[in-house]
Parts: sequence; C-alpha cells; structure tokens
Amino acid sequence: MDWWVSIPKVELHAHLNGSIRGSTLLELARGLGEKGTIVFSDVEHAILKDDRSLQEVFKLFDLIHIVTTDHKILTRITQEVVEDFAAENVVYLELRTTPKRNDLIGMSKRSYMEAVVKGLRAVATVEVDLAPRDLGTGNPVNSCAITDLCDGTARKKIYVRLLLSIDRRETTASAMETVELALEMRDLGVAGIDLSGNPIVGEWATFLPALKFAREQGLSITLHCGEVPNPVEINAMLDFLPGRIGHACFFGEEEWRKLKSCKIPVEICLTSNIRTETISSVDVHHFVDLYNAEHPTVLCTDDSGVFSTSLSGEYILASSAFGRSYAFYEYEYRLLNGLGRSEMFRLARKAIEFIFADDAVKRELGEIFESAARKLD
Ligand code: IMP
Repeated sequence: MDWWVSIPKVELHAHLNGSIRGSTLLELARGLGEKGTIVFSDVEHAILKDDRSLQEVFKLFDLIHIVTTDHKILTRITQEVVEDFAAENVVYLELRTTPKRNDLIGMSKRSYMEAVVKGLRAVATVEVDLAPRDLGTGNPVNSCAITDLCDGTARKKIYVRLLLSIDRRETTASAMETVELALEMRDLGVAGIDLSGNPIVGEWATFLPALKFAREQGLSITLHCGEVPNPVEINAMLDFLPGRIGHACFFGEEEWRKLKSCKIPVEICLTSNIRTETISSVDVHHFVDLYNAEHPTVLCTDDSGVFSTSLSGEYILASSAFGRSYAFYEYEYRLLNGLGRSEMFRLARKAIEFIFADDAVKRELGEIFESAARKLD
C-alpha cells in the first residue's frame, strides 16, 4: 500500500459531498438525530450499508444533503476532503460540487460556494494552490500561497480547482445561474462545469444552453455520460465534444467508435461502477479496452466516502485486476501490456494532460512527477 500512497496522483472526478469522511457523516447524523430532525437508527443503517444500486446511491445523497447542507458543515467537509486527498499524495484535485440554495437557512448558491472556498482556505496540513495564473506573468492572480517557507524548506502542496455541478433535476434557468456563478468565481479556482445527478432524471436539451454558454465563456466541461443505457443522449453528449466524460458504462459499438475517434478523456471510477452494479466485475470493465487502445483515461474515486475507497485504492485495484497478461473482454481473451508499477506511474502522470487548469499548472505538475520519478529510480 505504501508505494501506491507515496506516488503523486491526480484526482479529476471527486464529488464533495460523496467524499465526506464516514466518521464525519455518522457524527453529523447522530447530532441531527439528537435534535429530532431525523431518526438516527434509520439513517445509520442507510449509511453503513455497503452495496447499493445506483438508485439507492441517489437516495443516500438526498440523506447526506439533509445532514451537510449548512455553511459551517460545508466548510468543515471541504477542509477534511482536501486534507484526506493530500494525505495520500494527491497533488492535483478537481473537486466538484452542486451549489445548493436553501432559503430556510439563508443559503444561496453563492453563499454555498463561499463556504466551500472558506474550507479550502482552512486547510492546515498542506499548502493549497487554488489560484489561476495571470496569462501575462504566469504568477497566481489571487493567492496567499507560499511554496517555500522562510527557512527555505518546501511545504507539501496540493493544487485544487473547483468544478460546479449542474444537477439533472435542475431547470435551464437554474443551470444558467450555476454557470454565471462559476464565471464570477473563476479567480477563486473555479475551472469548469460538470453535469451529474440521477441519470434517469432530466433531459439533455434542458442543460445544453447553459453548457454551450459555459464553453463560449471559456469554462471547461465534463459530463456524466452513459451511466444508464441511453444511446440517444450518449450520442448527443459525444457530439457536444466535452473536455472529458465520466463513467461511459453503457456504450454500444457506435458510441465507442465515436469516443475513440474524438479522443475525449474518460474519468474511470472502478469501485463506484462495481458497487452500483453498472459494471458486473472489474475484470470486464471497459478500462481494459480503453487502456489497450491508448485512449486517454484517468483513474478516479467518484465518491470516496460513499464507496469507502481512496485514489491509492483505485490504483491498487486496477493494477491487481489488470496486472496479469490476459483479460477476458468482449467475448475473447486479449493480451494486456500488464499494469505494473511503472505503467501505473505513467498513467498517473498522463492525467496531467487532461486537467482543466492552465499550462503553468501542468508544467509545475510535470516537475513534481519528474522529481518523484527520480526518487523512485
Ligand atoms: P455534491 O454535488 O457535492 O452534493 O455531491 C453529491 C452529488 O454529486 C450527488 O447528489 C449527485 O448529484 C452527484 N453524484 C455523485 N456521484 C454520482 C454518480 O455516480 N453519478 C451521477 N451523479 C453523482
């Protein structure tokens, strides 16, 4: 395990509330139980259950949101999530979250995001770089970050960029509000927009105007795509040419052909797909085929709290499942190159190419991996 923790890693698909520590979720739920807001024994069972269908996961998210949608709690969760990723040497994190409005507690989408940014600033165990670079000078435009301490020793650092998620339950106007907010918060590290939420809810046409507008304004886009069989939507999403897609579990031949010819990077969430049974077992996961085709892929956690995983754990899972010479895929045995440590390190480093931050950050990440590679030699 130590080697997998020690290598630098890039996390591009992590939902804030899905990455909540299990212990924090239980503590918060117990607190609400004591206040009589929820019945703790019902909730405890739902939280501790390990295997859930995709639809059960969305029920759990509704529950998590009752527990977490509060400014102070959001700040705490954000801080903890970043510290947890940094502790396993994630050096670049794109954290996504759905800005939520709750008039009863005076929460707007903006105040929700401000609480998240406050959490980033509260991170104590590691230096957080959340500032985009000035195009002219290459310097951070809005950062109090210090790479070297006064005594000249470098502190551990994590780059964090935020993606604002549009939930598939939202209207066009609400999606547009999220995009406007993302544009206003660019200097605070917002780099793009995600479309997520229950895949059997909502229509692609509802979100398209907001996504088009976001792209016109220079925001990067990632889409949850093909979590359920829906070829019409999958094709429409691929035709949109997003910067990345997540999951891609229910693709037919035509969709694979299109994806590969457009070279759209795929965020791979092995544990999430297996736990929610969108893929029957890791051995038949499409990651194998994409890897063999040298299609851009990046291993991600999705919801490390909900699925009790970590990015190091996902790397171990991929390596142990695909480290051998052959894998059964699409009704035949195929030769694999084998995913040993050096291949996994290369895979982690390759992810730099698919991040939504600017080229200066890509260069700096390249140096971090270069230095780690020298130490591993
Ligand atoms: P939040 O946006 O920080 O509240 O993170 C939780 C939310 O992310 C959920 O309510 C969903 O909308 C979304 N989400 C998390 N995991 C998945 C997934 O596997 N598929 C689609 N949406 C997801």
